[in-house]
Amino acid sequence: MVVEVRGGVGVMEGNQPRVEVNVLLLGAHSVGKSALTVRFLTRRFIGEYGDIESVYSRVDRMDGQDVCFNVWDSPYTQDSERSPALPDKQLQWADGIVLVYSICDRRSFHVVRQQLQLIRRSRKPSSVPVVVVGNKRDLHCHRSVSSEEGRLLALSQHCGFFEVSAAETYEDVLLVFQRLVHLIRESRALRKSSAGVRRIVRSVSAVFGKKRGE
Ligand code: GDP
Ligand code: MG
Repeated sequence: MVVEVRGGVGVMEGNQPRVEVNVLLLGAHSVGKSALTVRFLTRRFIGEYGDIESVYSRVDRMDGQDVCFNVWDSPYTQDSERSPALPDKQLQWADGIVLVYSICDRRSFHVVRQQLQLIRRSRKPSSVPVVVVGNKRDLHCHRSVSSEEGRLLALSQHCGFFEVSAAETYEDVLLVFQRLVHLIRESRALRKSSAGVRRIVRSVSAVFGKKRGE
């Protein structure tokens, strides 16, 4: 049996709920967005990736549940540099966002800061889960952004934070996506419970409103 669940949360296969998560990768050019995507999907690092924009899918087992990751690897174009606004279509699509900078490229850290502000301002609800990732940790001798700066930025905006090397390890990259799923689950549970509270408040107001009007 396959049943679509409203709100895009997932499908039911037999008794096993399958969760669907849409993950958007953002960040400046050449920070390793495609490398992280390919590492996560195939466990490999292939070196050169081009600028193909695509949504890729992978199903993973997490905490006894199938999670279908849809990963949108979006290139940072010259247009993005001229006008930093983020396409609404991408923001509406995303359940969670991975914001990537290179620890060797200070400018890419500013792009992440800027994109984080745009996300928090434009997205409704603005609390979309975000994980900030400092990539290219293997090039630490060329480091121009300290771990503390990255962590502080992430903490100040209630984001997850990791420093990884897409070139060197699969496990750290996997942790990024797993952390994002945890944040998405928390945010969905919060939305569900606040919708429940709103429903109760509406019912109570309806009953008392009626009584007053009787
Ligand atoms: P994108 O433009 O953000 O998608 O960046 P790419 O994924 O195309 O990567 C840009 C360049 O950085 C490529 O030459 C990659 O091989 C390289 N790169 C990506 N991740 C790493 C990393 O963790 N370490 C090193 N040393 N190079 C990386
Ligand atoms: Mg790319």
